[in-house]
Amino acid sequence: MPNHSKSDIKQRRRAAEVLDRLRRHIDLRCELDFTTPLELAVAAILAAQCTDKRVNMVTPALFKKYRTAKAYAESDPDELEVLIKSTGFYRNKAKSIRALGAALVEQYKGELPRDLEKLIHLPGIGRKTANLLMADAFGQPGLIIDTHQIRVNGRLGFTEQTDATKIEMELRELLPEKDWTDWSHALTLHGRYTCIARKPKCHECPLTDLCPYYATLPKP
Ligand code: SF4
Repeated sequence: MPNHSKSDIKQRRRAAEVLDRLRRHIDLRCELDFTTPLELAVAAILAAQCTDKRVNMVTPALFKKYRTAKAYAESDPDELEVLIKSTGFYRNKAKSIRALGAALVEQYKGELPRDLEKLIHLPGIGRKTANLLMADAFGQPGLIIDTHQIRVNGRLGFTEQTDATKIEMELRELLPEKDWTDWSHALTLHGRYTCIARKPKCHECPLTDLCPYYATLPKP
């Protein structure tokens, strides 16, 4: 059995309490619309520098036109770009989506592999998206470290790191695997709507008594 110090145990208890409160406060889910792993992978590529809401406006027509990895691989670049243009950076995103389709056809018979390391090595799929796919497409534990996670974990005193991979490794130690996916959704949604970057809405937050950042803020 691992030998944890008193401060480790305290942090674990605090993390469990944070997650318990956020579970009661937030409807935990991925905000991108999808029905298959491939759709989620494409939506995640489109979500870079774009809101999930905007991506969800684009994907119905896209998913109707392209239903397989082969269809993306063989897509006409101009036609694909027109469909995804409003998500921004559309030339690079179209390139990534076509390259992903081609790699899936070539290496995995057109299917996304259910394996974090294999996913990470696919075109257009970074560590964050690979974890998202493991968690939300394959129902496996996944720590999805985005910009909200970096900020909120920092404010709550669970990390002093700003590098996403280092934070993922710290959270792997802090949290039981069964909680990884919920932690990802909970802190990301909390960061998106309440613990926002510029001025966190602490008056709406259920975590004030657990938050070291809140303790440093001037009170009225
Ligand atoms: S108390 Fe404020 S700073 Fe702390 S987690 Fe809540 S919203 Fe963020």
